[in-house]
Amino acid sequence: MFNFPDYFHYIIIQMKKLFLIFIVFVASKSFSQTIINRDPEIEKMVQEVSVDSLQSYISTLVSFGTRNTLSTQTDKKKGIGAARNWVLEKFNQFAKNSDGRFTAIIDTTTIPADGRRMDKAVLLGNVMATLKGTDPNDKRIFIISGHLDTRRTDVMDRTGDAPGANDDGSGTAAVIECARIMSKRSFPATIIFVAVSGEEQGLFGSTFMANKAKKENWEVEGVFNNDIIGSNNSNETNIINNTKVRVFSEGIPLDASEKDIAGIRSLGLENDSKSRELARYVKETGERYVDHLDVVMVYRTDRFLRGGDHLPYLKNGFTAVRITEMNENFNHQHQDVRIENGIQYGDLPQFVDYEYLRKNTSLNLANLANLAKAPSAPGEVKIEVKTLSNSTSLSWQSPKTGKVKGYYILMRETTSPVWQTKIFTAKNEMTLPYSKDNYFFAVQSVNESGNESLPVIPGIKRD
Ligand SMILES: [Zn+2]
Repeated sequence: MFNFPDYFHYIIIQMKKLFLIFIVFVASKSFSQTIINRDPEIEKMVQEVSVDSLQSYISTLVSFGTRNTLSTQTDKKKGIGAARNWVLEKFNQFAKNSDGRFTAIIDTTTIPADGRRMDKAVLLGNVMATLKGTDPNDKRIFIISGHLDTRRTDVMDRTGDAPGANDDGSGTAAVIECARIMSKRSFPATIIFVAVSGEEQGLFGSTFMANKAKKENWEVEGVFNNDIIGSNNSNETNIINNTKVRVFSEGIPLDASEKDIAGIRSLGLENDSKSRELARYVKETGERYVDHLDVVMVYRTDRFLRGGDHLPYLKNGFTAVRITEMNENFNHQHQDVRIENGIQYGDLPQFVDYEYLRKNTSLNLANLANLAKAPSAPGEVKIEVKTLSNSTSLSWQSPKTGKVKGYYILMRETTSPVWQTKIFTAKNEMTLPYSKDNYFFAVQSVNESGNESLPVIPGIKRD
């Protein structure tokens, strides 16, 4: 006989099942459908990034006339010397609100003449500020870098105006603005904010810093090189768009040995270098916190014919990416300021889109904060390959520092550029009913406020 309460109960159970299927579907389809809340502290910091501040930094930087690495270091108002003293002064102002955690120096070294782009020995100075991490056991360092120096058409011209509003006033302004906002806060890991010199003459400042980091065993886990991030249009295509930014990352690491390359080849990991994982992280985190900004990953170390300050870090085995605008305008780069056939050439402040620069600065800030707040990455991440199986078993150890809530297992098809599925677990192992032959996996730590470590690609576990 038909029993109404039983039937009702049956319906409820079916509805619950449907609801669960719906939840699993929503949670696993892709990041766009994964529900991850913004960390209110990071959201607040992102809101503090100010168009006015960025504009005022660039206006001051341009006022030094030229910031060519070979320019005067004794003039109080013009040249690279005055410019770097001003950046140091800004950092020192911020230090006052940091309870002694934020300190700044001009880190100098003498670069000898090389007969190429250095026709005399120069005392080169990187303006470097350190926001010391609050956890003494946490040795991780994240670096945001821009280059202070500028150039004209002739890279050796050290006296004519080289405003460098965008190249790389924009990157330098982003560094200063992140320092202003972050120096008031504290993070378990250390963040270094640096405006280097000597980029245009041959990446001298970043080489000096990356070599030092290697020699002194700094645990640099991510470098954000910001170079040309403030203009929204290309002179050739007439595209005007301030909703896209590029992040360049290497595939096969520059420092990979033959043995490393054999490992990469055997597991099909050409697209999973640490820098590529950082690029994915930048995209995911950036798009989580910055509205109306798409992060476009470019699977290249850098653009044709050009390099940047992330390269010396890569050569030293560190993880680094280049962040750069989507549509470059070559009338404004490396050009003497002039009007020719009615066209204004030169890297002038009026060509900077400060709203675009605000978004790109926010992208950096959100990523630095999410990384520096996160626990360190899980250790000994392994994928079991003892027997042939259509499932995937992963295991890992708790991170060395930071309080974890749990871990995310990341999964994607081998042809997918981004992680497609993000599954939470509080345990230190997980078996998934998906074949390791058909997907890539990684594991990241996550804390209570949702800050994730960089993902770790599993190594092989045979026993
Ligand atoms: Zn540049």
